[in-house]
Amino acid sequence: MLEELRKQVLEANLELVRAGLVLYTFGNASGISRADGLVAIKPSGVPYEGMRPEDLVVTDLEGRTVEGSLRPSSDLATHLVLYRSFPAIGGVVHTHSRFATAWAQARRPIPCLGTTHADYFRGPVPVTSALDAREIESAYEANTGEVIARRFAGTDPMEVPAVLVAGHGPFCWGASAAEAAHNAVILEYVAEMSYYSVTLAEAAEELDPAHLDKHFLRKHGAAAYYGQK
Ligand SMILES: [Zn+2]
Repeated sequence: MLEELRKQVLEANLELVRAGLVLYTFGNASGISRADGLVAIKPSGVPYEGMRPEDLVVTDLEGRTVEGSLRPSSDLATHLVLYRSFPAIGGVVHTHSRFATAWAQARRPIPCLGTTHADYFRGPVPVTSALDAREIESAYEANTGEVIARRFAGTDPMEVPAVLVAGHGPFCWGASAAEAAHNAVILEYVAEMSYYSVTLAEAAEELDPAHLDKHFLRKHGAAAYYGQK
């Protein structure tokens, strides 16, 4: 079932390892088939090395396993809330990559200080509010998705395809699992650069809005002209 999606999701998970974003079994990537209403996600606690497409777990949008003998990633419920809340996304990635997590732990949004950031994120990468005791106590993973969805109320998640969960780490998304993994790699890169920028100049100025939009829209706008047709 969903052989192509399984392959894509496996590849997205392996990309996180190749890019140095995950240690051991940390991190998880998933992808959705909107036509089938089914999600393929990394199994929980299984080493990346030797992982096969058939090891991925296929669930419905309520989290019921439809295919697969392994347990899904413990963060499945967060991914599902994001798929239900953001209809345009096709893939979700979560890591504890070092610099993005440092910003999440500092509870500081990553400011847009340069065009590398603006090419991918149309503004600062936001931080969620902290989960309260009740949200942590029960349905913790689903509530993590809910604080993300609340943070994006009134915002197009495709314009800023990443968030920092306060005291936790980044979640990223995209049109596909591959794009979500790519955005996670770029997020870590801009998180590192912004860290150095504010270290060198504490009051580093954010990119001028016109400059930010120029870079974001030439790549992602209706009249995008970056790259090949
Ligand atoms: Zn985590």
